Amino acid sequence: MLSNIDFPWSLRKLFCAKFYKGKSACYNLVDFAHTPLPPPSARSSSFRGAASSEKDDDLKPITIKSVQLHTVLLPYLRPFETSFGAETHKVAVLVELTTETGVVGWGECSIELWPGYGHETAETATHILSEFLAPAVIGETLDHPTDFPTLIRRFRGNHHARAGLEAAVWDAFAKRNDLRLTDCFAHYAPDGHKTEGRATVGVSIGIQDSLDATLAAVSARLDQGYCRIKLKIKRGWDIEVARAVRARFPDILLMLDANSDYNIGDAEHLATLDQFNLLMIEQPLSHDDIYQHGVLQSRMATRICLDESVKSASDLLVALQVGAIGILNLKPARVGGFSECLEIYRICAENDLPLWIGGMLECGIGRSANLSFAALPAVNLPSDISATDRYFDPDLTEPPFALDGDSTLAVADGRGIGVDVQRDRLEVAKQAWRDNYPYGGGA
Ligand SMILES: [Mg+2]
Repeated sequence: MLSNIDFPWSLRKLFCAKFYKGKSACYNLVDFAHTPLPPPSARSSSFRGAASSEKDDDLKPITIKSVQLHTVLLPYLRPFETSFGAETHKVAVLVELTTETGVVGWGECSIELWPGYGHETAETATHILSEFLAPAVIGETLDHPTDFPTLIRRFRGNHHARAGLEAAVWDAFAKRNDLRLTDCFAHYAPDGHKTEGRATVGVSIGIQDSLDATLAAVSARLDQGYCRIKLKIKRGWDIEVARAVRARFPDILLMLDANSDYNIGDAEHLATLDQFNLLMIEQPLSHDDIYQHGVLQSRMATRICLDESVKSASDLLVALQVGAIGILNLKPARVGGFSECLEIYRICAENDLPLWIGGMLECGIGRSANLSFAALPAVNLPSDISATDRYFDPDLTEPPFALDGDSTLAVADGRGIGVDVQRDRLEVAKQAWRDNYPYGGGA
């Protein structure tokens, strides 16, 4: 068994490799789950200040000339069901940013049709981007992509919208400097944090019609090579599905995601999940709660992973202080962009908090950017960034991301996000949005 101390840092290389080479090792994570976390480290210095003053030697700035938005609708290969309901299509507002030197950067505003996971919708994001955020940055020169939040700091909230625009800035900046996006992120990461060029990934399995269907879905994903299985759960679909999957697959890295479907009155019920040797349970309580998650964590052994509740670095510090978090699922869209991600990344590294990158079922633009971030070394648990063929055929970008045998995805090999937007497919997806416009009044 791994020690409590070295588990999080060595999982990528040891756990997954062991599982796939031996397929018989039994990993007992209970001791890991019981490990108390130390109080959070004080914020030592301004991360952004350090990045600007110490690492800016030879990078070329960009000046933003224009911003164009593309709202797209893209069918999933199969519906994806969570406690929110079933999703059949991907909706996204894609941000195409052009610089004065003609560099084009792309960002994906991960969004939903209705304010379920987050507060925003495709139309609110379009409104905020077109009326406020884009006008605030056009004509501006950025010496560093980490300067972006300062340009829009007079606008509050709307994290998904701002994350989409910031992602386009990062892509353009990396391309301008002939860097892969992952190398660009590493440049602004703490000293010594070099990109690994690939990330260990798992797969998320939505709520199925039956236990048999769930077992079949898990089996299929394991056969494809994924080393970590995440099951979406909800009230009435939790204990028995965990029991069935654990009974069939006693050795796999297994976790559950409740998407806020429970409350603290369910603590005793949730604690019964401890028997299934779970890697973590993700966001069991309310999307805006931190304190009660700390109460719940004191009543169950399985580590609580926060998703929706951590919308900023400040939220993360609170969660650490009250013992509400044992693992973080970091979604760039949720926290407002990659600059905030880097601040959160630094806090996780300083506090030895296990970290992985979550997803919003992004198309290739957002998938590539998230993967580029997940390749940083302190992202030390499998991320929710599946291969392209998990969701789309075809995607809006080429080449697709394919799973390697060790449950990793390699970052795209090219400048910026390293994948090319296919204009013909983009137009089809934009037309699909117009043809199926879901709100009153028409697009
Ligand atoms: Mg989640």
